Amino acid sequence: MKGTGAKPANVREIMTQHFDPADEHDVLDPERLATPSGVAAVLERCGLAPRKGLGQNFLVDRNVLRRIIDAARLTPEDTVIEIGPGLGVLTWALADAVRTVIAVEVDAGLVRWLERLLRARDNVRLVHADALEVDFHALLAEHPPGPGGTGKVIANLPYYITTPLLMRFLEEGPPLDSMVVMVQREVAQRLTARPGTKDYGALSVAVQLRADVETVGVVSPHVFFPKPAVESAVVRLKLRPLPGDVLDEAVLFAVVRAAFGQRRKTLRNALRAAAKASGGPASEAAPSPRRRGRGEGPGETGAPWPDRAVEDALAAAGIDGARRGETLSPAEFVRLANALAARSG
Ligand code: SAM
Repeated sequence: MKGTGAKPANVREIMTQHFDPADEHDVLDPERLATPSGVAAVLERCGLAPRKGLGQNFLVDRNVLRRIIDAARLTPEDTVIEIGPGLGVLTWALADAVRTVIAVEVDAGLVRWLERLLRARDNVRLVHADALEVDFHALLAEHPPGPGGTGKVIANLPYYITTPLLMRFLEEGPPLDSMVVMVQREVAQRLTARPGTKDYGALSVAVQLRADVETVGVVSPHVFFPKPAVESAVVRLKLRPLPGDVLDEAVLFAVVRAAFGQRRKTLRNALRAAAKASGGPASEAAPSPRRRGRGEGPGETGAPWPDRAVEDALAAAGIDGARRGETLSPAEFVRLANALAARSG
């Protein structure tokens, strides 16, 4: 592991090198949490093992921790939402820096540990819940930033929910200034991708319409315990409102999802397929694409526009329906969605 030079084989081996898990003081030392031996000791003490299915790769490098915190440009009046506090290494450091930390953790075993660790902190709100279900508007309303502060998201994300989670924050728009998140390197490339490139997709458009995004740095698997199979990257998203000329945000994101739902289809056919998959054209109901789901398939696009509206909207927006969705710039998506919004619903 980075910093130790050793590559221990398993939890018990690491633990016995440095820690006595029976020593409450040792285990509860937040400074040691960001080390492989610290993580191993806590897991041993709590009778837990890293759960791959929940994306549990714990950060064990204080330099990376510092880079995440520096990139977030925190002020003492900020409210920070942390997704997946894990063993609390980032949570502890954030609690030193801001007014309130809202930490949302789904794993009951980790929540029990966090309750113990964070007993001493009075500015951490620990929420035992799935971050895909939590009402972030309500939580931020309960814990607003102080004067001059803002709402921020900071997280070493569980990779299996990165996309739906980012989409949730972008589409549902709780009042946030910025997000600094650890993601798979490949996702970072998608977040920053340009039209027509292989990495350009629904996530690229949704993010680039709503945020200036920069890669803070690439991160090696060695800074985690256990090590993930892939490289990671820290990205910073500085959020801004959607362009002022968007007629209907819901239609815009439905069009984006539809266009990328089946990348091989032309734009015209992708939009038609999305309408079919959502139950066919609805003559009365307004489009309702804000369904919560873990996927981005066309069945979840909620795009009940009639074929006729698709043709008219393409013509009005001056966009060739034979193009593929992946070649449209974010501004072209806005034009097309506005034309559709004016013709459906
Ligand atoms: N923040 C810790 C760190 O940096 O060491 C842990 C990061 S680990 C990559 C991801 C964390 O997210 C784990 O604690 C995991 O249990 C939690 N998690 C996974 N799925 C979640 C979900 N749907 N909602 C909330 N937390 C989740």
